[in-house]
Amino acid sequence: LTGGDDSMSQAEKEIDKALRPLSFRDFTGQEKIVENLKIFVQAARRRGEALDHVLLHGPPGLGKTTLSHIIASELDANIKMTSGPVLDKPSDLAGLLTNLDRNDVLFIDEIHRLNPIVEEYLYSAMEDYKIDIMLDSGPNARTVQISLNPFTLIGATTRSGLLTSPLRARFGINSRLEYYDSALLTSIVKRSADILGSPIHQDAAFEIARRSRGTPRIANNLLRRTRDFAQIKGDGTITVDIAQFALNALDVDHNGLDEMDNRILNTIIDKFKGGPVGLSTIATACGEESETIEEVYEPFLIQEGYIKRTARGREATELAYIHLGKIPPRQVGT
Ligand code: ADP
Repeated sequence: LTGGDDSMSQAEKEIDKALRPLSFRDFTGQEKIVENLKIFVQAARRRGEALDHVLLHGPPGLGKTTLSHIIASELDANIKMTSGPVLDKPSDLAGLLTNLDRNDVLFIDEIHRLNPIVEEYLYSAMEDYKIDIMLDSGPNARTVQISLNPFTLIGATTRSGLLTSPLRARFGINSRLEYYDSALLTSIVKRSADILGSPIHQDAAFEIARRSRGTPRIANNLLRRTRDFAQIKGDGTITVDIAQFALNALDVDHNGLDEMDNRILNTIIDKFKGGPVGLSTIATACGEESETIEEVYEPFLIQEGYIKRTARGREATELAYIHLGKIPPRQVGT
Protein backbone atom coordinates (compact mmCIF):
# COMPACT_ATOMS: atom_id res chain seq x y z
CA LEU A 1 0.00 0.00 0.00
CA THR A 2 2.88 2.32 0.66
CA GLY A 3 4.53 1.42 -2.66
CA GLY A 4 5.04 3.91 -5.46
CA ASP A 5 4.39 3.64 -9.17
CA ASP A 6 6.31 0.42 -9.73
CA SER A 7 3.64 -1.88 -8.35
CA MET A 8 0.75 -0.36 -10.34
CA SER A 9 -1.11 -1.79 -13.32
CA GLN A 10 -1.85 0.36 -16.36
CA ALA A 11 -5.47 0.88 -15.25
CA GLU A 12 -4.32 1.97 -11.81
CA LYS A 13 -1.85 4.42 -13.34
CA GLU A 14 -4.70 5.96 -15.33
CA ILE A 15 -6.75 6.42 -12.17
CA ASP A 16 -3.71 7.81 -10.38
CA LYS A 17 -3.34 10.37 -13.13
CA ALA A 18 -6.99 11.35 -12.94
CA LEU A 19 -6.69 11.95 -9.19
CA ARG A 20 -3.58 14.12 -9.43
CA PRO A 21 -4.27 17.79 -8.66
CA LEU A 22 -3.30 19.95 -11.67
CA SER A 23 -3.05 23.41 -10.16
CA PHE A 24 -2.14 25.05 -6.87
CA ARG A 25 -5.87 25.55 -6.31
CA ASP A 26 -6.54 21.81 -6.49
CA PHE A 27 -3.67 20.97 -4.19
CA THR A 28 -4.80 20.52 -0.59
CA GLY A 29 -2.53 21.17 2.38
CA GLN A 30 1.18 22.07 2.66
CA GLU A 31 -0.20 25.59 2.83
CA LYS A 32 2.96 27.46 3.66
CA ILE A 33 4.98 25.76 0.94
CA VAL A 34 2.26 26.37 -1.63
CA GLU A 35 1.82 30.03 -0.64
CA ASN A 36 5.56 30.63 -1.02
CA LEU A 37 5.81 28.74 -4.30
CA LYS A 38 2.94 30.77 -5.74
CA ILE A 39 4.83 33.99 -5.04
CA PHE A 40 8.13 32.70 -6.41
CA VAL A 41 6.44 31.38 -9.55
CA GLN A 42 4.62 34.67 -10.15
CA ALA A 43 7.77 36.69 -9.61
CA ALA A 44 9.80 34.51 -11.98
CA ARG A 45 7.10 34.78 -14.62
CA ARG A 46 6.88 38.53 -14.29
CA ARG A 47 10.62 38.84 -14.78
CA GLY A 48 10.60 36.31 -17.61
CA GLU A 49 13.28 34.36 -15.77
CA ALA A 50 13.64 30.74 -14.78
CA LEU A 51 12.39 29.95 -11.30
CA ASP A 52 15.15 29.28 -8.77
CA HIS A 53 16.02 25.60 -8.33
CA VAL A 54 13.65 23.84 -5.93
CA LEU A 55 14.39 21.00 -3.52
CA LEU A 56 11.34 19.11 -2.21
CA HIS A 57 11.88 16.61 0.54
CA GLY A 58 9.74 14.39 2.73
CA PRO A 59 8.37 10.84 2.90
CA PRO A 60 6.96 9.17 -0.22
CA GLY A 61 3.41 9.89 -1.36
CA LEU A 62 3.07 13.40 0.09
CA GLY A 63 2.92 15.21 -3.26
CA LYS A 64 6.47 16.04 -4.38
CA THR A 65 5.93 14.83 -7.95
CA THR A 66 2.47 16.37 -8.05
CA LEU A 67 3.78 19.75 -6.91
CA SER A 68 6.54 19.65 -9.50
CA HIS A 69 4.02 19.16 -12.29
CA ILE A 70 1.95 22.00 -10.88
CA ILE A 71 4.96 24.32 -10.70
CA ALA A 72 5.80 23.62 -14.35
CA SER A 73 2.23 24.13 -15.42
CA GLU A 74 1.91 27.40 -13.50
CA LEU A 75 5.17 28.54 -15.07
CA ASP A 76 3.69 27.62 -18.42
CA ALA A 77 6.78 25.52 -18.99
CA ASN A 78 7.50 21.95 -20.04
CA ILE A 79 8.66 19.42 -17.52
CA LYS A 80 11.10 16.58 -18.18
CA MET A 81 11.19 13.79 -15.63
CA THR A 82 14.08 11.60 -14.63
CA SER A 83 15.52 10.11 -11.47
CA GLY A 84 18.90 9.92 -9.76
CA PRO A 85 19.62 6.21 -10.31
CA VAL A 86 18.69 6.43 -14.01
CA LEU A 87 21.34 9.06 -14.78
CA ASP A 88 24.31 6.79 -15.17
CA LYS A 89 26.82 9.12 -16.76
CA PRO A 90 27.24 12.83 -17.52
CA SER A 91 26.16 12.34 -21.14
CA ASP A 92 22.72 11.12 -19.96
CA LEU A 93 22.30 14.37 -18.11
CA ALA A 94 23.76 16.45 -20.95
CA GLY A 95 21.17 14.94 -23.31
CA LEU A 96 18.34 16.10 -21.08
CA LEU A 97 19.77 19.53 -20.31
CA THR A 98 20.51 20.47 -23.90
CA ASN A 99 16.94 19.62 -24.86
CA LEU A 100 15.32 22.01 -22.42
CA ASP A 101 13.60 25.10 -23.76
CA ARG A 102 14.01 28.45 -22.05
CA ASN A 103 12.67 28.36 -18.43
CA ASP A 104 11.66 24.67 -18.61
CA VAL A 105 11.66 22.39 -15.59
CA LEU A 106 13.86 19.33 -15.13
CA PHE A 107 12.56 17.04 -12.37
CA ILE A 108 15.03 14.63 -10.78
CA ASP A 109 13.39 12.19 -8.39
CA GLU A 110 15.53 10.47 -5.75
CA ILE A 111 18.16 13.12 -6.25
CA HIS A 112 20.11 11.79 -3.25
CA ARG A 113 20.96 8.76 -5.40
CA LEU A 114 22.82 10.66 -8.13
CA ASN A 115 26.13 9.21 -9.16
CA PRO A 116 28.81 11.64 -7.79
CA ILE A 117 30.27 12.26 -11.26
CA VAL A 118 26.86 13.19 -12.63
CA GLU A 119 26.20 15.31 -9.57
CA GLU A 120 29.37 17.31 -10.05
CA TYR A 121 28.44 17.83 -13.67
CA LEU A 122 25.14 19.26 -12.54
CA TYR A 123 26.78 22.02 -10.50
CA SER A 124 27.83 24.28 -13.39
CA ALA A 125 24.54 23.60 -15.13
CA MET A 126 22.62 24.79 -12.08
CA GLU A 127 24.89 27.70 -11.36
CA ASP A 128 25.78 29.20 -14.74
CA TYR A 129 23.57 27.24 -17.16
CA LYS A 130 26.74 25.89 -18.74
CA ILE A 131 28.12 22.41 -19.23
CA ASP A 132 31.33 20.94 -20.60
CA ILE A 133 30.91 18.38 -23.31
CA MET A 134 33.61 15.97 -24.35
CA LEU A 135 34.10 15.73 -28.10
CA ASP A 136 35.89 12.81 -29.71
CA SER A 137 37.98 10.39 -27.74
CA GLY A 138 41.60 9.31 -27.58
CA PRO A 139 44.24 11.83 -28.75
CA ASN A 140 41.59 14.05 -30.38
CA ALA A 141 39.54 14.35 -27.22
CA ARG A 142 38.72 17.89 -26.21
CA THR A 143 36.00 19.52 -24.20
CA VAL A 144 33.86 22.40 -25.29
CA GLN A 145 31.69 24.46 -23.06
CA ILE A 146 28.13 24.97 -24.19
CA SER A 147 25.47 27.29 -22.88
CA LEU A 148 22.10 25.94 -21.83
CA ASN A 149 18.78 27.65 -21.79
CA PRO A 150 17.96 28.93 -18.31
CA PHE A 151 15.99 26.19 -16.54
CA THR A 152 14.67 25.17 -13.14
CA LEU A 153 15.85 21.99 -11.52
CA ILE A 154 13.34 20.44 -9.14
CA GLY A 155 14.93 17.76 -7.01
CA ALA A 156 12.83 15.41 -4.90
CA THR A 157 14.18 13.27 -2.12
CA THR A 158 12.98 11.19 0.79
CA ARG A 159 16.39 11.60 2.42
CA SER A 160 17.58 15.20 2.38
CA GLY A 161 20.21 14.22 4.95
CA LEU A 162 21.99 12.24 2.26
CA LEU A 163 22.41 15.23 -0.06
CA THR A 164 25.94 16.60 -0.29
CA SER A 165 26.27 20.16 0.92
CA PRO A 166 27.46 21.56 -2.46
CA LEU A 167 24.34 20.19 -4.09
CA ARG A 168 22.03 21.37 -1.34
CA ALA A 169 23.58 24.85 -1.49
CA ARG A 170 22.60 25.20 -5.15
CA PHE A 171 18.87 25.08 -4.43
CA GLY A 172 17.42 28.53 -3.84
CA ILE A 173 14.12 27.09 -2.60
CA ASN A 174 14.13 24.26 -0.10
CA SER A 175 10.83 22.87 1.19
CA ARG A 176 9.99 20.01 3.47
CA LEU A 177 6.59 18.39 2.99
CA GLU A 178 4.83 17.27 6.17
CA TYR A 179 2.35 14.48 6.83
CA TYR A 180 -1.28 15.58 6.33
CA ASP A 181 -3.75 15.72 9.19
CA SER A 182 -7.04 13.82 9.04
CA ALA A 183 -9.11 16.87 8.11
CA LEU A 184 -6.97 17.59 5.04
CA LEU A 185 -6.93 13.94 4.04
CA THR A 186 -10.71 13.78 4.43
CA SER A 187 -11.08 16.50 1.83
CA ILE A 188 -8.59 14.74 -0.44
CA VAL A 189 -10.57 11.49 -0.11
CA LYS A 190 -13.82 13.30 -0.88
CA ARG A 191 -12.33 15.02 -3.91
CA SER A 192 -10.97 11.70 -5.21
CA ALA A 193 -14.28 9.89 -4.60
CA ASP A 194 -15.99 12.65 -6.54
CA ILE A 195 -13.63 12.23 -9.50
CA LEU A 196 -14.15 8.44 -9.39
CA GLY A 197 -17.93 8.97 -9.26
CA SER A 198 -18.25 7.07 -5.98
CA PRO A 199 -20.75 8.36 -3.42
CA ILE A 200 -19.11 8.49 0.00
CA HIS A 201 -20.43 9.42 3.43
CA GLN A 202 -18.56 12.06 5.42
CA ASP A 203 -17.78 9.67 8.29
CA ALA A 204 -16.51 7.06 5.83
CA ALA A 205 -14.19 9.61 4.20
CA PHE A 206 -12.92 10.54 7.65
CA GLU A 207 -12.37 6.88 8.57
CA ILE A 208 -10.25 6.29 5.47
CA ALA A 209 -8.39 9.57 6.01
CA ARG A 210 -7.64 8.86 9.66
CA ARG A 211 -6.15 5.48 8.78
CA SER A 212 -3.95 6.60 5.86
CA ARG A 213 -0.65 7.27 7.67
CA GLY A 214 -0.95 10.99 6.90
CA THR A 215 -0.27 10.24 3.22
CA PRO A 216 -2.46 11.21 0.22
CA ARG A 217 -1.14 8.34 -1.91
CA ILE A 218 -2.23 5.84 0.74
CA ALA A 219 -5.58 7.60 1.21
CA ASN A 220 -6.25 7.32 -2.53
CA ASN A 221 -5.19 3.67 -2.58
CA LEU A 222 -7.40 2.81 0.38
CA LEU A 223 -10.28 4.69 -1.19
CA ARG A 224 -9.95 2.66 -4.39
CA ARG A 225 -9.90 -0.63 -2.52
CA THR A 226 -12.81 0.45 -0.32
CA ARG A 227 -14.77 1.37 -3.43
CA ASP A 228 -14.33 -2.22 -4.65
CA PHE A 229 -15.83 -3.49 -1.41
CA ALA A 230 -18.69 -1.00 -1.69
CA GLN A 231 -19.50 -2.19 -5.20
CA ILE A 232 -19.37 -5.90 -4.37
CA LYS A 233 -20.68 -5.97 -0.80
CA GLY A 234 -23.02 -2.97 -0.94
CA ASP A 235 -24.82 -0.73 -3.42
CA GLY A 236 -21.70 1.26 -4.38
CA THR A 237 -22.03 3.91 -1.71
CA ILE A 238 -19.06 4.02 0.65
CA THR A 239 -20.47 4.01 4.17
CA VAL A 240 -18.48 3.94 7.38
CA ASP A 241 -19.34 0.25 7.88
CA ILE A 242 -18.01 -0.65 4.46
CA ALA A 243 -14.93 1.49 5.07
CA GLN A 244 -14.23 -0.25 8.37
CA PHE A 245 -14.79 -3.66 6.85
CA ALA A 246 -12.49 -2.89 3.92
CA LEU A 247 -9.73 -1.36 6.04
CA ASN A 248 -9.74 -4.36 8.37
CA ALA A 249 -9.63 -6.71 5.40
CA LEU A 250 -6.62 -4.74 4.13
CA ASP A 251 -4.83 -5.19 7.47
CA VAL A 252 -4.95 -1.51 8.31
CA ASP A 253 -5.52 -1.43 12.05
CA HIS A 254 -7.72 0.94 14.07
CA ASN A 255 -4.86 3.44 14.45
CA GLY A 256 -4.04 3.28 10.76
CA LEU A 257 -0.87 1.24 11.16
CA ASP A 258 -0.36 -1.37 8.48
CA GLU A 259 1.08 -4.84 8.75
CA MET A 260 4.71 -3.76 8.39
CA ASP A 261 4.33 -0.96 10.98
CA ASN A 262 3.02 -3.53 13.44
CA ARG A 263 5.66 -6.04 12.53
CA ILE A 264 8.36 -3.45 13.26
CA LEU A 265 6.84 -2.61 16.65
CA ASN A 266 6.33 -6.29 17.55
CA THR A 267 9.91 -7.06 16.57
CA ILE A 268 11.42 -4.30 18.71
CA ILE A 269 9.29 -5.32 21.68
CA ASP A 270 9.33 -9.13 21.46
CA LYS A 271 12.75 -9.83 20.04
CA PHE A 272 14.75 -6.94 21.48
CA LYS A 273 13.00 -6.22 24.78
CA GLY A 274 11.71 -2.88 23.48
CA GLY A 275 15.14 -1.68 22.32
CA PRO A 276 17.31 0.19 21.86
CA VAL A 277 18.14 -1.81 18.75
CA GLY A 278 19.90 -0.81 15.54
CA LEU A 279 18.03 -0.15 12.32
CA SER A 280 19.75 -2.88 10.30
CA THR A 281 18.99 -5.46 12.99
CA ILE A 282 15.32 -4.51 12.91
CA ALA A 283 15.35 -4.65 9.13
CA THR A 284 16.81 -8.15 9.04
CA ALA A 285 14.36 -9.40 11.65
CA CYS A 286 11.41 -7.91 9.72
CA GLY A 287 12.58 -9.07 6.30
CA GLU A 288 12.56 -5.50 4.91
CA GLU A 289 15.29 -3.22 3.55
CA SER A 290 16.82 -0.82 6.10
CA GLU A 291 16.37 1.99 3.63
CA THR A 292 12.64 1.36 3.29
CA ILE A 293 12.18 1.22 7.03
CA GLU A 294 14.07 4.46 7.46
CA GLU A 295 12.35 6.33 4.62
CA VAL A 296 8.82 4.96 4.69
CA TYR A 297 7.88 3.44 8.04
CA GLU A 298 10.00 4.99 10.72
CA PRO A 299 9.22 8.70 10.09
CA PHE A 300 5.52 8.05 10.65
CA LEU A 301 6.04 5.78 13.67
CA ILE A 302 8.26 8.46 15.20
CA GLN A 303 5.86 11.29 14.44
CA GLU A 304 2.96 9.33 15.97
CA GLY A 305 5.04 8.56 19.04
CA TYR A 306 5.38 4.77 18.70
CA ILE A 307 9.15 4.72 18.49
CA LYS A 308 11.99 6.92 19.61
CA ARG A 309 15.32 7.34 17.93
CA THR A 310 18.17 7.40 20.40
CA ALA A 311 21.94 7.39 20.00
CA ARG A 312 21.93 3.65 20.70
CA GLY A 313 19.15 2.73 18.29
CA ARG A 314 15.37 2.57 18.10
CA GLU A 315 13.18 2.14 21.17
CA ALA A 316 9.52 1.26 21.44
CA THR A 317 7.55 3.78 23.48
CA GLU A 318 4.86 3.07 26.04
CA LEU A 319 2.30 3.96 23.37
CA ALA A 320 3.62 1.12 21.19
CA TYR A 321 3.07 -1.38 24.04
CA ILE A 322 -0.43 -0.07 24.65
CA HIS A 323 -1.22 -0.13 20.94
CA LEU A 324 -0.25 -3.80 20.73
CA GLY A 325 -2.07 -4.69 23.95
CA LYS A 326 1.19 -5.46 25.74
CA ILE A 327 2.26 -4.36 29.19
CA PRO A 328 4.93 -1.64 29.11
CA PRO A 329 8.07 -2.37 31.14
CA ARG A 330 8.27 -0.49 34.43
CA GLN A 331 10.18 2.75 34.06
CA VAL A 332 13.45 2.92 35.94
CA GLY A 333 12.85 4.75 39.19
CA THR A 334 9.09 4.16 39.38
P1 ADP B 1 5.62 11.89 -3.97
O1 ADP B 1 6.22 12.39 -5.26
O2 ADP B 1 5.90 12.79 -2.80
O3 ADP B 1 5.96 10.45 -3.68
P2 ADP B 1 3.12 12.14 -5.41
O4 ADP B 1 3.18 13.54 -5.89
O5 ADP B 1 3.42 11.06 -6.41
O6 ADP B 1 4.04 11.94 -4.11
O7 ADP B 1 1.67 11.93 -4.78
C1 ADP B 1 1.08 10.65 -4.65
C2 ADP B 1 -0.39 10.73 -5.02
O8 ADP B 1 -1.09 11.38 -3.97
C3 ADP B 1 -0.65 11.52 -6.30
O9 ADP B 1 -1.02 10.68 -7.32
C4 ADP B 1 -1.78 12.46 -5.97
O10 ADP B 1 -2.96 11.99 -6.59
C5 ADP B 1 -1.98 12.36 -4.49
N1 ADP B 1 -1.69 13.63 -3.82
C6 ADP B 1 -0.49 14.01 -3.31
N2 ADP B 1 -0.60 15.21 -2.70
C7 ADP B 1 -1.88 15.58 -2.83
C8 ADP B 1 -2.62 16.74 -2.39
N3 ADP B 1 -2.04 17.70 -1.67
N4 ADP B 1 -3.93 16.81 -2.69
C9 ADP B 1 -4.52 15.81 -3.37
N5 ADP B 1 -3.89 14.70 -3.81
C10 ADP B 1 -2.58 14.58 -3.54
